[in-house]
Amino acid sequence: MPPCSTKCGKNAILKRPKTGDVLCKECFFEAFENEIHFTITRAKLFKPNSKVAIAASGGKDSTVLAYVLKLLNQKYDYKLDLTLLSIDEGITGYRDDSLETVKQNRDDYEMPLKIMSYKDLYGWTMDEIVAEIGRKNNCTFCGVFRRQALDRGAVLLKVDYLATGHNADDIAETVLMNILRGDLARLSRCSAIITDSGDGIPRVKPLKYTYEKEIVMYAYFRKLVYFSTECVFAPNAYRGHARVLLKDLEKIDPSVIMNIIQSGESLKINESANMPTLRKCTRCGYVSSQEVCKACVLLEGLNKGLPKLGIGKSSKVKKFIQEKNCKTDCLCNNK
Ligand code: SF4
Repeated sequence: MPPCSTKCGKNAILKRPKTGDVLCKECFFEAFENEIHFTITRAKLFKPNSKVAIAASGGKDSTVLAYVLKLLNQKYDYKLDLTLLSIDEGITGYRDDSLETVKQNRDDYEMPLKIMSYKDLYGWTMDEIVAEIGRKNNCTFCGVFRRQALDRGAVLLKVDYLATGHNADDIAETVLMNILRGDLARLSRCSAIITDSGDGIPRVKPLKYTYEKEIVMYAYFRKLVYFSTECVFAPNAYRGHARVLLKDLEKIDPSVIMNIIQSGESLKINESANMPTLRKCTRCGYVSSQEVCKACVLLEGLNKGLPKLGIGKSSKVKKFIQEKNCKTDCLCNNK
């Protein structure tokens, strides 16, 4: 291998996928961590003396996020109180194993851990949901429930921020997916580094400009323990196509990932487009763009043996709710 391009005197052991620089291990660590520090400070992601929940799945992204946030918090004295928040979807052979990795992270990084389960929150595990609805729309249920479960966890923990492990590839994929679907509402906010979840707890993405390949390299060279098995109910077909397209484009030019993110950031959405406004769900009180939130609608369908309710157009759902004169009390177990 050639000498490290920083001229530190050591031999390089890797080529950075993002920049093409050939670096030794220590210079790679420094460049990787400095970029995340730069992202955090430039976007003013955290105020000092804040409490931050890290959405932890046991996978590479959240493991690296927890490790690097702890390191930067100490190195630059961010004065953050860090805690781990995990969601147990109830997926046998996947989440039960990955939660063991999160518990290892808890011990290794000395951070408290809170686990919220679908079973406790909604009365259903993903195993039970899939047994009811089959393998076609499972990720719709899972995604909607997870998003709300994280919000509920963040409220319960009384944190000021919820940090997620979304990396540059995830964001670029989402921008592509929303363009392909013509989903203007999501397109306008999917590349934001801070999003308002509507409950006063911002969601922040410190790894927004960090390439997935570099996260894998960093975890490998730092010898971090993470869980790499794919969910037994994957893949989410549409996202899978966007991912394949992005990976093919990345092979031609790695800067395509940053270019797509920057394009997403620069997009101006037509003001006259039909954009949803956030309000409180009339049932569970959590944030929703509709009168009744998607999680409550999906749950209503499951509990009434109509699992397709909520998959598809919201007008159909509205009609169903009006026709059935559904009760307005909360359907969730912990309320
Ligand atoms: Fe949930 Fe689908 Fe992800 Fe599995 S692949 S964890 S079912 S969203």
